[in-house]
Order: sequence, then structure tokens, then C-alpha cells
Amino acid sequence: MKTLTELHDDIDARVSAIRLGNPDWLCRMGCDGCCHRLAQIPELTPAEWTLFRDGFASLSDEKQQEIRQNIATLSSQSPRSIVCPMLDKTAGTCLIYAYRPVACRTYGFYVERDKGLYCHDIELRVEQGELNNVVWGNHDSVNRHLDKLGDKRNLVEWFEYL
Ligand code: SF4
Ligand code: SF4
Repeated sequence: MKTLTELHDDIDARVSAIRLGNPDWLCRMGCDGCCHRLAQIPELTPAEWTLFRDGFASLSDEKQQEIRQNIATLSSQSPRSIVCPMLDKTAGTCLIYAYRPVACRTYGFYVERDKGLYCHDIELRVEQGELNNVVWGNHDSVNRHLDKLGDKRNLVEWFEYL
């Protein structure tokens, strides 16, 4: 079984290889489209939550309070346009970037068999044939490793433990 750290290393290697062949890759600091339109409330395995919790604990009391308020409004948001509670909407950056879940690390670089899973902006470039040279990461494989790290809970449920 791979640890979360080992899984991160694998993802970092795939992401680096894609970036190397495509220096103008869309995913970059300041591109926060996916963080504004989550398909569901983020779900984390216990190992991802432990890391995430460290990132949350490193924030100021003011930021933590802001995030708690964001979490409280999550269940009332439309399931088609959930804004991640960890997004700094002014800066367009992730407040816990180094501690973010696997889904955030793979989205934009990994695809799932028969489903795609590209973000809309990347999908557009794929349709235009601009990314034919990309060796995408295998999302099914990542999911299989994640399944071995324990049962997922969504952020609202995890925050009940804080
Ligand atoms: S997945 Fe899409 S929206 Fe998200 S950072 Fe990458 S290019 Fe931007
Ligand atoms: S945890 Fe960070 S990277 Fe992931 S969706 Fe939220 S703001 Fe974006």
C-alpha cells in the first residue's frame, strides 16, 4: 500500500513531466476556476484530513473563523457550483496549498477512463487538438490507492471533529 506521501510523490512526478512538455500549461497560481465550481463538497481520506488539518491549524484565527463560516454555508450551495471554503477569493489562491487534498493535485493533469475529467478550460484545448502529446495521469489508479487509505468523509463531516 502506498502512503499519502508516496502518492503525492507519484503525482508530483506526473505533473512535472506534463509541465516539462508543456511550459504554458494552464494550471498555475492564480488559476482558480476549478476551486470556484466544485462538483461536490470535497471528500478526504483520514490521511488527507490529517494533512489538511495541519494546514488549517497553521492559519491565523481570523482565517480559521472565515473558513468555518464558509464550511457552515456549504450545504446550502447549489451542488453544481460549490465554492471551496479554502479559497482566498480575493487572491485566487488556496489557503492550504501545500496541504491540499489529492483531488486538487490531480485535477487538470489526470483523467479517468471513459470519463475524461478535464476542467472546462483544458477540455477546450483538448478539443482543439493542442494537447495531443500529453501523457495524462491515471485517475482510476489514484482512486484505487486512495481507497486503501480509509473511508472518505466530506469536509463538513470532518470539521465536526475539530
Ligand atoms: S484544473 Fe483548470 S481551472 Fe483548475 S487550475 Fe487547472 S486550468 Fe485552472
Ligand atoms: S483545497 Fe485549495 S486547491 Fe483544492 S479546491 Fe480548495 S482552494 Fe482549490
